[in-house]
Amino acid sequence: MNNATVAAQRSVPFFRPSVGEAEKTAVLKVLEGGWLTTGKKTKEFEERFAASVGAKYAVALNSCTAALHLALEAIGLAPGDQVLVPNMTFAATAEVVRYFGAKPVLVDCEAETLCLDPQQAYSAARRAQASGPLKAILPMHYGGQMADMDAMHALGAEFGIPVIEDAAHTLPAYRRDAAGEWRPVGHGSSAACFSFYANKCITTGEGGMATTNDEALADRMRMMSLHGLSRSAWNRFESKGSWYYEIVAPGFKYNLTDVAGALGVAQLGRSEEFWQARRRIASLYREQLSEVAEIEVPAEREDCQSSWHLFSTRLHLDRLTIDRARFIEEMKEHGITCSVHWMPLHLHPYYRETYGFAPEEYPVANALWPRLVSLPIFPSMTDEEVEIVVSAVRTICAENRA
Ligand SMILES: *Cc1c(COP(=O)(O)O)cnc(C)c1O
Repeated sequence: MNNATVAAQRSVPFFRPSVGEAEKTAVLKVLEGGWLTTGKKTKEFEERFAASVGAKYAVALNSCTAALHLALEAIGLAPGDQVLVPNMTFAATAEVVRYFGAKPVLVDCEAETLCLDPQQAYSAARRAQASGPLKAILPMHYGGQMADMDAMHALGAEFGIPVIEDAAHTLPAYRRDAAGEWRPVGHGSSAACFSFYANKCITTGEGGMATTNDEALADRMRMMSLHGLSRSAWNRFESKGSWYYEIVAPGFKYNLTDVAGALGVAQLGRSEEFWQARRRIASLYREQLSEVAEIEVPAEREDCQSSWHLFSTRLHLDRLTIDRARFIEEMKEHGITCSVHWMPLHLHPYYRETYGFAPEEYPVANALWPRLVSLPIFPSMTDEEVEIVVSAVRTICAENRA
């Protein structure tokens, strides 16, 4: 066997979804049941999901991006408004602000967690308010470790703006508040938006959920998720449903299908199992990579319980003769797919050119992002796969020591 064959046989993907018999049976039942789009299964998914994160209401949608869009619509975001958005996040968190012709005010991150930095958020909020209406803050929980929600809620209260969480990475996650209570993601915020994209904590292929404790927000999001039709219109084709509906606003088409809803119910039933598996892999990585001086592994803050959606490491580039791109290529040569989360938004051409964000205003993200490498982590990852990744990291670091 030549080396290429060995590498091919020992390859580790960045992510492998865990879809088993429970999911197949649930989906098959829907396919055979004659009701494919939004219906009872989606309703059940919403109810179970709300209970699992301790929210009063949950609206199932076809993506987290849709959830973020509808949450901002429900708070009445308008052209010219401003929203505080972390610079270390995925495209979706900022683009939804642009959907309204509003401005995402990018804020630098904390070095430790890569989540929105509260102090930077305060000064950005003051500057923003001086130049126009500031309407919301959109913290994101990077990799599964939660942002400082006490600080986010204090900021929200001080500036009179809602906190909407981009919770795409967190099912579940907890942060201890000032009173010492463990609070789940979404607690105390106007809304939280979850993703069921293929590689998220649970998946429906594509899908999302907006949770809230505010009935008016829930009603608005539900209505706008289906063309702005008056309530209960979704079951208008059922015999007990009404044929009559009214269009009360120009809505969107963001509803989740029952095929996906069934997948969601089955996945949600396994979310604790998935979480424990990711936690175990994270602690194996931390143990086995802690003495590799060329790489820094993420610590879990004592006041956080991370979902461990990502295992985002940082290279000590000063201790290596190679850069991050070369490191990732060498991992690929060892059969391992890595990723980077993310190039900060202020460096992307659209945001740079549209708003002229000055790179020097974002020293933390600028310094950290060239060092970031996300290693594979997923519930079905075997000990052998962890060992393959660890030994590749060790080998690459040893061979390229500065
Ligand atoms: C994946 C992701 C989203 C978007 O989720 P979709 O369900 O694909 O729309 C939003 N924010 C963050 C931080 C993400 O990682």
